[in-house]
Amino acid sequence: MQTPAKKPAKNTAQKLPATPKELLAELVLANKILYGLKAVDAFGHISVRHPNDSNRYLMSRHLPPGMVTPKDIVLFDMDSTPLSHADKPQYSERFIHSEIYKLRPDVMSVVHCHAYSLIPFGAANGARLRPMFHMCGFLGCGVPIFEIRERSGNTDMLIRTPEIGRALAEKLADKNVVLMRGHGATMIGNSIPEAVFRAVYSMENASIQMQAHQLADGGEVEFLNEEEADKSSRGRNVPRSWSLWKHQFSKA
Ligand SMILES: [Zn+2]
Repeated sequence: MQTPAKKPAKNTAQKLPATPKELLAELVLANKILYGLKAVDAFGHISVRHPNDSNRYLMSRHLPPGMVTPKDIVLFDMDSTPLSHADKPQYSERFIHSEIYKLRPDVMSVVHCHAYSLIPFGAANGARLRPMFHMCGFLGCGVPIFEIRERSGNTDMLIRTPEIGRALAEKLADKNVVLMRGHGATMIGNSIPEAVFRAVYSMENASIQMQAHQLADGGEVEFLNEEEADKSSRGRNVPRSWSLWKHQFSKA
């Protein structure tokens, strides 16, 4: 018996949201700034939620941030499946981004880095990253530490699955920065400039805090209190920093 010819499969290709060129340029610039200011080296990444589809996000394909161009920006869904550039390797830790976007609808941009100055604060028992000066008020709400062993046992420390990404996002909760023991840190923002600002100034705060502890030689260090941290984080620090970094790195 002959089987009827199969109907041609319906075209299931998804219509991809159009991405403004300016946003691609801003994301590429953010990669250059993070690299130029040593928040990232060959590793680390920044993403942005798609402005026309909140269930999509944009991030470079697997490349050192300093080498990213607009052609390398990939569109991902919230499972971190690439909807473009699918033939290219992608960052293994992309689940950091999708799981935070799913849990935090307010977040528009995510940075993940391995900045050296932040590593001790994720590893030293009892150490807490706290706001040292008025540029770092965003740390005042608390900086949790993600311990990957709690749910995943001994790993290579990377966020390689949606499950580990979800655990990290839950540890971040409603805060701005989460440290990752033995690995690095992840910070969020309501824009690319804000996420970059928080990455850069988290590093600066860590260096200054380390110096303050050394200077205090076991004595007390005075941090911004909650109200000072809140008040100082409402200013124009982000746009002013971004305008300088844009001037500095857009031709790099
Ligand atoms: Zn990492």
